[in-house]
Amino acid sequence: MDKVTIVTGGSRGIGAAACLRLARDGHRIAVGYQRAAAAAEDIAAAVRADGGHAVAVRADTAVEDDVVRLFDAAAAELGPVTGLVNNAGVISPLGRLADLRTEDLRHVMEVNVIGAFLCARQAARVLTDGGAIVNVSSGAATLGSPHDYIHYAASKAALDALTIGLAKELAAEGIRVNGVAPGFIDTDIHLASGDPDRAEHVVGRIPMGRLGTPDEIAEAIAWLLSDAASYATGTTIRVAGGT
Ligand code: NAD
Repeated sequence: MDKVTIVTGGSRGIGAAACLRLARDGHRIAVGYQRAAAAAEDIAAAVRADGGHAVAVRADTAVEDDVVRLFDAAAAELGPVTGLVNNAGVISPLGRLADLRTEDLRHVMEVNVIGAFLCARQAARVLTDGGAIVNVSSGAATLGSPHDYIHYAASKAALDALTIGLAKELAAEGIRVNGVAPGFIDTDIHLASGDPDRAEHVVGRIPMGRLGTPDEIAEAIAWLLSDAASYATGTTIRVAGGT
């Protein structure tokens, strides 16, 4: 059976790298995007130019109807959905928890927790034997993130709990659920930190002395979705340069 995989937040960064990498493994790809239609169409076109199958589908992952529509569109265009990369996520401006704005707290929880749970729930409804989910967590979930993003770290810890619980729930149905916890990866997400020199400020904390690339995260995602990972479920792999 063809692998048909939905990648949320697939128009750029880690999600875009995952779309391209999974397509090379033969997955048919639904590139989920919230606003960046042109960028998502470009990723889908790049997959097709390489001989693969892909469509771009607009969906705000924090909106239940959008999530259902995303899964329905993927199935209608590409065939029965077999996989989900639960990748869409947000941060908020850096700062102490004492100064955190309630709207930023709500937004991070809305996308990183509610949105990810809505997508996982829809996947749990439609995936069958052989299906797989990868939740894109963060090293922050277990390291904490003092003076940075305690709420973001907590949102990703919720995702890790989802990975473990859902893996146990779906194991008997032959569906695997795993996570990837990136360290500091060179993507545009950090623009929302409000610190233009964010990379410079964190690189000293990374034992390998450099930021990771989206492609390095995509490799782990691809392995977890592949048949080579047939006995891996309920685990979250840290890909973080030793952090
Ligand atoms: P990014 O900002 O480039 O990508 C995030 C994507 O999510 C964007 O395409 C954005 O449009 C999408 N998105 C945000 N809210 C959405 C919503 N409500 N509905 C649909 N899509 C939405 O950043 P990235 O670094 O590629 O992040 C991808 C994932 O990796 C995120 O979950 C992030 O938390 C996680 N992560 C990133 C890093 C890092 O250092 N870059 C580290 C750890 C974890």
